[in-house]
Amino acid sequence: MSKIPYRFYLSEEQMPKQWYNLRADMPEQPDPMLNPATLKPIEEKDLYPIFCKELAHQEMDFETAYIDIPEEIQEMYRIYRPSPLIRAYNLEKELDTPAKIYYKFEGNNTSGSHKLNSAIAQAYYAKKQGLTSLTTETGAGQWGTALSEACAYFGIPLTVYMVKCSYEQKPYRKAVMQTFDANVVPSPSNTTEVGRKILSENPETTGSLGCAISEAVEKATTTEGCRYVLGSVLNQVLLHQSIIGLEAKTAMELLGEYPDTVIGCAGGGSNLGGLIAPFMRDKLVDKKNIRFIAVEPASCPSLTRGKYAYDFCDTGRVTPMARMYTLGCGFIPSANHAGGLRYHGMSPILSKLYHDGYMEAVAYEQTKVFEAAKLFAKVETILPAPESSHAIRCAIDEALKCKETGEEKTILFGLTGTGYFDMTAYSAFNEGKMTDYIPTDEDLQKAFDMLPKI
Ligand SMILES: *Cc1c(COP(=O)(O)O)cnc(C)c1O
Repeated sequence: MSKIPYRFYLSEEQMPKQWYNLRADMPEQPDPMLNPATLKPIEEKDLYPIFCKELAHQEMDFETAYIDIPEEIQEMYRIYRPSPLIRAYNLEKELDTPAKIYYKFEGNNTSGSHKLNSAIAQAYYAKKQGLTSLTTETGAGQWGTALSEACAYFGIPLTVYMVKCSYEQKPYRKAVMQTFDANVVPSPSNTTEVGRKILSENPETTGSLGCAISEAVEKATTTEGCRYVLGSVLNQVLLHQSIIGLEAKTAMELLGEYPDTVIGCAGGGSNLGGLIAPFMRDKLVDKKNIRFIAVEPASCPSLTRGKYAYDFCDTGRVTPMARMYTLGCGFIPSANHAGGLRYHGMSPILSKLYHDGYMEAVAYEQTKVFEAAKLFAKVETILPAPESSHAIRCAIDEALKCKETGEEKTILFGLTGTGYFDMTAYSAFNEGKMTDYIPTDEDLQKAFDMLPKI
């Protein structure tokens, strides 16, 4: 084959028409979600008050490997997909590595990240069921932005509970959501019972994702015709995000390539779960020898330092419990941690794969991450999101190892988004003011002590 192009796009005909549900090919299933009142496994119908029906069904479906993407969703995907598979020639040259580095770039849409892939699906199914409003939470703001766009497209009113520190630090994220007519509320707020309780216990709190989730769930379950949607962690979200991996795999096959190592940043696990899904199938079913690396911040290290235990998905302890790697639902990352990936838990699917030894995990301090972000921006001319830059850091380190050993490995990583709303953090780094905070074992123990006793 002639030289591999810098950017490679599938044609519309080559785009996936189905999502891939990795659970169907897992040798063992993640443990079931539990109802916190009865400690019995949740059934599909238990989820109907929280999620719309089709999404509740997808959440519980561990048998159907391939699920048709409805035509209306494919239509909206075609507005901004396929996303490019990029060969990082410049980065390879800069590192002087024999490794081949590829990345799948998901930042080429107005929301600026991969989150739109699931937002569209969730808004579509809600509309189809005739729901009249949706609620959600957002941390750094990308999910809220993506869902605001999707809800505006399908004509569904949306309330976004936005973690208070982000609400204050990222006024333009809020402005984008409001442009798409979303109602944005700083969390914790006094608009819900759980918000008022959290505020009375800790009036100075800058909020957390877990706390915003509690508020959004309460609002959905107490409002007629309203449901809750979540941008990560859930099985249904990983299913929708499989579009990333499916496109990447087809593109690599067309180029005559196949990765030795697949790397992704991990907050709740949705982009990583989506990117690795079809490759993990190859490992589980076809026994392909392939490495998977989850990259997380040292300040919120759920896989590398968390416990594999049943926990609530939210701070207010109102959601079902999931068995996952968790820092404890009471864990709130240090306020100096700049870039996303702040969730206390990890997708139960990824947690199970990690627990069973199919995936590795590493944690990086944020100054190391921003160093990589800056190098990448300069040579590849894309300004990466801080979250995505965790994956860049790891890809660089893996490529440098190849330089030492002389191995010509093929590395694929997920570049989940752009960082234009994170310039406060970039400025702090550029001015040498960024610091690292790694929680001590005692810090972590406090939240572990509050894990449900099961
Ligand atoms: C939300 C987000 C992440 C982390 O979420 P996951 O569910 O772990 O994928 C990573 N990168 C960007 C740009 C994001 O917006």
